[in-house]
Amino acid sequence: MYPNTQLLIDGAWRQALSGNSIAVFNPATHEEIGRVAHAEKADLDFALEAAERGFKTWRKMSAFERCNLMRKAATVLRERADAVATMLTLEQGKPLAEARQEVLFGAEIIDWFAEEGRRTYGRVIPARAEGVYQLVIKEPVGPVAAFAPWNFPINQVVRKLCAALATGCSIIVKAPEETPASPAQLIRAFVDAGVPAGVIGLVYGDPANISGHLIAHPVIRKISFTGSTTVGKQLAALAGEHMKRATMELGGHAPVIVFDDADAEAAARTMAFMKFRNAGQVCVSPTRFLVQEGVYEKFVAQFAASAKALKVGNGLDKGVEMATLANPRRPAAMLAHVEDAQRHGGKLLAGGHPLGAVGNFFEPTVLAELPADALAMNQEPFGPLAVVNPFKSFGDAVKEANRLPYGLAAYAWTRSAKTAQAVAAQVEAGMVTINHLGLALPEVPFGGVKDSGYGSEGGSEALEPYLNPKFVSQAGL
Ligand code: NAD
Repeated sequence: MYPNTQLLIDGAWRQALSGNSIAVFNPATHEEIGRVAHAEKADLDFALEAAERGFKTWRKMSAFERCNLMRKAATVLRERADAVATMLTLEQGKPLAEARQEVLFGAEIIDWFAEEGRRTYGRVIPARAEGVYQLVIKEPVGPVAAFAPWNFPINQVVRKLCAALATGCSIIVKAPEETPASPAQLIRAFVDAGVPAGVIGLVYGDPANISGHLIAHPVIRKISFTGSTTVGKQLAALAGEHMKRATMELGGHAPVIVFDDADAEAAARTMAFMKFRNAGQVCVSPTRFLVQEGVYEKFVAQFAASAKALKVGNGLDKGVEMATLANPRRPAAMLAHVEDAQRHGGKLLAGGHPLGAVGNFFEPTVLAELPADALAMNQEPFGPLAVVNPFKSFGDAVKEANRLPYGLAAYAWTRSAKTAQAVAAQVEAGMVTINHLGLALPEVPFGGVKDSGYGSEGGSEALEPYLNPKFVSQAGL
């Protein structure tokens, strides 16, 4: 059911040259379920040589041919969805239904990028002299190095992979060591669809050693990273030192503003679903709930009830709505948040404790009335924990929403068009969704501002950083 995972170098699946590997654990049971090959510098150098050759092959193919191969990969992935979803749940923990959705959504992302690659148009700029043609041609930037985390093992890889492939770039993916099998299956779908050797490389190992070697290497022309702000800043500095382009999708601490005129109960139910999806291990997970005084009690009662009603269990079991966290660091972090909140006089309205004797389970947790200096009001919990605080005026809510250095996603609920417009204009975030959950479709931008990073992983904006505009000015003889 769960395979050992190999490296993909120059079109061949193989072990690391050293023979070293890393254990992979099921986070729901703590059992070792498999191993993943651990690449060293020599493996990376082979991957780099292959990526350089792969780039030469892939950039020459027409956008039409590239599109067809990518769409074939999407079909292969869909055919294998059930098996890949099971691997994903075994290694990451999330409920099987969520894992299956992630795989199928991955296929949708592939299709969208495949088609969008056919629309990487250039421009013709009117010239100042007769007979002169001024052209802007979009060329692929070159081999890409991508670093993806464990919370969405398929979807964090697929966006980077597809933006690179759709624009004619080759790519080396460093996928997460904690959840290696499902991203390897994603990449296998491309290999089996006929993407040539060297176009895609897949490595695992020591993240800092791999990023240090790949980012500095002259073959790599662009990097893309998803993960914490701390690591993102280190990699962005390294990319800057070596003049490499970078896309950085980092942490967040999303505010949710619920105004007096909103349907507070509907907002609470919808936002509870969003909060506890993937056990809160989502960069756009709503965390700071700011609820206007008039609907505060109603919102809090429904939100805490929704949290308490969730069925928590092993992701493979039927009907489970929230499963284990992906690694032991997360429940430890949740507990630290809860203890700190209690020291700060906060109220614990739901959950607050680890669950079960084995696995990384933690109860869906709701804290309330926390001061601004409490840990949970400042540090991304990246787990099933939310804070609800009341506010008086629009100004107070926006000030609190913008207080932190993060700026990824923001949510608001109101029946007033004027308030909605003001929230969209004044909240500092890369994405704002009002009165519904409208983020992360393949065709819309996905990215942050401030310490949440820069660049987009969705929409046509996602392709531009993988393209160099080349200007050609040509006069007749
Ligand atoms: P972490 O900072 O150790 O690692 C985050 C990710 O970055 C992991 O996938 C890790 O393998 C990778 N990484 C770490 N150091 C690296 C390096 N030098 N070069 C390349 N990759 C490197 O944290 P963690 O304990 O795994 O996760 C906790 C925090 O990370 C969360 O609180 C959250 O802020 C952030 N995170 C964000 C996302 C996201 O979707 N934006 C995803 C996962 C983790």
